[in-house]
Amino acid sequence: MRKPIIAGNWKMYKTLEEGEELVNLLKRQLYDVEDIDIVLCPPFTHLAYIADMLESSNILLGAQDMHWEEEGAYTGEISGPMLKCAGCKFVLIGHSERRQFFGETNESVNKKLASALNNGLTPIVCIGEDLKQREKGITFDLISQQLELGLKAIAPERLKEIIIAYEPVWAIGSGKVATSEQAQEVHRYIRDWLSKNYSSALAQETRIQYGGSVKPDNIAGLIAQEDIDGALVGGASLDADSFSAIVRESKKG
Ligand code: PEP
Repeated sequence: MRKPIIAGNWKMYKTLEEGEELVNLLKRQLYDVEDIDIVLCPPFTHLAYIADMLESSNILLGAQDMHWEEEGAYTGEISGPMLKCAGCKFVLIGHSERRQFFGETNESVNKKLASALNNGLTPIVCIGEDLKQREKGITFDLISQQLELGLKAIAPERLKEIIIAYEPVWAIGSGKVATSEQAQEVHRYIRDWLSKNYSSALAQETRIQYGGSVKPDNIAGLIAQEDIDGALVGGASLDADSFSAIVRESKKG
């Protein structure tokens, strides 16, 4: 049975003071949750501080991006070893906002993924189609290309350390959630792809999250789907009550 995972992507929101307040509320509201992985991905500048706040809690820390090199002359970038020593366990890779605004490609996703694994970080690899691609009927082609290039040369035994986040771009921050059936259809496609290209046992072990306008009132329908193992939450992760409600609704029946 795959353990559900709910991750909050704060994006470029929350000062350190605001983040501290949010973390304190979440620790109080979620202290007794045991069977769900809870992950917070605040901005880089908050990581080490929030890592201290989360110590001996049931909430884990993740970053929103990383560079693939261990170190070097890459002004403004952050490496895997730096995230690790800041207390991160997870890292988002290939978020659609990175792809859209900062030139992230499937090739850079692949390099970051390898570096995350080498540095003991669990990568959450984001894939998904935009509205034009969905309307053109090329969603599955696009997903399979993102998987093929993004996971290229990743050893099969590392697959279960990777989390895939299916995030239809048209549903991110738009208030338009994919229906549970639309999401399940693509999650099933992803698991079948993993099964064909790795093995059915490895595909069954890999966690696939849905992301895109997840809210307390739609998480139950999503998590009830066979191949949906959690959620990557943007907007609703900025509010303690909403994020806590999403976590509490995420038990697999
Ligand atoms: C995200 O940032 O990955 C996301 C899914 O955002 P939202 O929940 O706001 O759509």
